[in-house]
Amino acid sequence: MTLRLDSRIPPGPLAEKWNRHRFEMKLVNPANKRKHTVIIVGSGLAGGAAAATMSELGYNVKCFCFQDSPRRAHSIAAQGGINAAKNYQNDGDSIYRLFYDTIKGGDFRSREGNVYRLAELSVNIIDQCVAQGVPFAREYGGLLSNRSFGGAQVSRTFYARGQTGQQLLLGAYQALERQIARGGVKMFPRTEMLDLVVIDGKARGIVTRDLVTGAIESHAAEAVVLATGGYGNVYYLSTNAQGSNATAIWRAYKRGAAFANPCFTQIHPTCIPVTGEHQSKLTLMSESLRNDGRVWVPKKAGDKRDPRQIPENERDYFLERKYPAFGNLAPRDIASRAAKEVCDEGRGVGPSGLGVFLDFADAIKRLGRAVIEERYGNLFEMYERITDENPYEVPMRIYPAVHYTMGGLWVDYNLMGTIDGLHVTGEANFSDHGANRLGASALMQGLADGYFIIPSTIGNYLASSKLEKVDASHPAFKAAEGEVAATTRKLLSIDGKRTVSSFHRELGKIMWEYCGMSRNEAGLRTALKKIPELRAEFWRDVNVPGSDAELNQALEKAGRVADFLELGELMCLDALHRTESCGAHFREESQTPDGEALRDDEKFAYVAAWQYAGEGKIPILNKEPLVFENVKLSQRSYK
Ligand SMILES: Cc1cc2nc3c(=O)[nH]c(=O)nc-3n(C[C@H](O)[C@H](O)[C@H](O)COP(=O)(O)OP(=O)(O)OC[C@H]3O[C@@H](n4cnc5c(N)ncnc54)[C@H](O)[C@@H]3O)c2cc1C
Repeated sequence: MTLRLDSRIPPGPLAEKWNRHRFEMKLVNPANKRKHTVIIVGSGLAGGAAAATMSELGYNVKCFCFQDSPRRAHSIAAQGGINAAKNYQNDGDSIYRLFYDTIKGGDFRSREGNVYRLAELSVNIIDQCVAQGVPFAREYGGLLSNRSFGGAQVSRTFYARGQTGQQLLLGAYQALERQIARGGVKMFPRTEMLDLVVIDGKARGIVTRDLVTGAIESHAAEAVVLATGGYGNVYYLSTNAQGSNATAIWRAYKRGAAFANPCFTQIHPTCIPVTGEHQSKLTLMSESLRNDGRVWVPKKAGDKRDPRQIPENERDYFLERKYPAFGNLAPRDIASRAAKEVCDEGRGVGPSGLGVFLDFADAIKRLGRAVIEERYGNLFEMYERITDENPYEVPMRIYPAVHYTMGGLWVDYNLMGTIDGLHVTGEANFSDHGANRLGASALMQGLADGYFIIPSTIGNYLASSKLEKVDASHPAFKAAEGEVAATTRKLLSIDGKRTVSSFHRELGKIMWEYCGMSRNEAGLRTALKKIPELRAEFWRDVNVPGSDAELNQALEKAGRVADFLELGELMCLDALHRTESCGAHFREESQTPDGEALRDDEKFAYVAAWQYAGEGKIPILNKEPLVFENVKLSQRSYK
């Protein structure tokens, strides 16, 4: 049976939808809030902000993370900045412009209502964070400073050097710690959610494993929020933290939550190139660097000269040449494909030939080294430590790498999934970014979800739902605990010959080759054959040492890789069915004469929401049509 996907976008003019909705939503009486328990899985920007705010409002919150402290969530890695339509630069920005840039940047595959709300809330986020003491960069006169990010012609990105995520997370973390100390939030670090419990069609809790003792436990609540981040690590090599995984959302999918646009993956153009098989992680060089760095390759294929010896007229500043209006700040999907194209022509640089230069020589000449150091000092230092090359003197070498997942669990305007009571925020939901996220918009979305949207919409859910009293002794919890324990035992009992990482690496290679920067029918069909074979081998031959009654990182990883081995297949299925190109999803069969993504709005202006159909069965495709009342669908151009 297919699902009824009701996006619940409020009626009325775009600019009034959220306010009107907030007014029309039901409220929970302040004295009754403490009677409700809300589970929040994840303590990154999306989860940490939600947990602190819900507790501040008076709800009982249980918050979970797999790290030893909430402040180690992967959000801490975010470098470049956070967007907001403050128009401090007086350069023509507005809420509408941020809305439009985001819809266009996502190649018209996101909802107008959600995106407008995001742009509207962006301004409140900055105020909230400043009030918390987040040390955003400032101008000489004290005003907050801005820089530009890809896909925008205004400067609207607020930043704290190259550590914006860290500073924002410290803000959210302090707010969270205050509530932990107050007793409003009970924090469960080093605890991994391994199942969602659904009773009478409603999400009523989770089953967890204590990563230190191995104890499996149940937690009941009136509502569950998953803020568990993105699943880019399905590709093995990505800019994500090692621990980032899909387990929470994948297990929720298998309990009935629809998974939207799983194939929409962002490949970031500016990462340090891969150096060899030994690597388990890639490093991002923030997009903010493209404010001052110029991207180029030699005009001649196979030119291996020291870049400083290559004269100006023998260089191809290919982004400036191809996209004069946006230049080096062309959006990520477009900049990545352009880099791949010049490397495919044999003009790539560095030992592997899979690299392009990001050159600061002009900016240093124009602004002086001190200014560049002030703007990007920590990024330059990080680059030098990793590559042993000094980017003040030699151009950086960069290449695209997997970075962010626009896909995720389907949610309506209230951020509720297809299971009542299950809410999904931050990178874990399919979000507001369509087929391509603009830089500096993930932090904005996670914090809009956590600080401003979820606290209102969960109140509405609780006030308008009839929820029977349920506790962790309910048979549904016991059954889920049994399944979790059985899977854990099975992983340990196989006692095969291959490490978990070797399976993960092989899956990553399949995904990168066939479902990476560009995709075609034959390749996707190959992947759809290879992945189930690899999965079968995993369950036959994986080796997970140790026991389940202790800290066992191989066991943790095995569970996550088992889920990636299923999710990867769904991603390829989604990519195969969407025969158009849009944003980061580039189907080679669908391109314009000059090689840009060619959408097919007639056939594909919808969200693809996949529904689990059971073990070994093909998932069911549900479609949520996208309705555009305010913007005109057009060929995306940055020329
Ligand atoms: C290197 C890098 C730089 C970036 N820079 C920027 C930038 O400058 N601007 C921008 O806007 N975006 C940036 N992004 C993207 C942005 O950082 C992320 O999209 C965002 O921080 C995700 O936040 P989140 O709260 O959704 O998830 P996360 O911060 O990933 O948090 C996930 C949380 O869920 C928990 N969790 C996960 N699974 C489980 C489980 N099964 N059980 C229990 N807990 C679980 C984790 O412990 C963690 O607390 C960057 C991303 C990377 C990789």
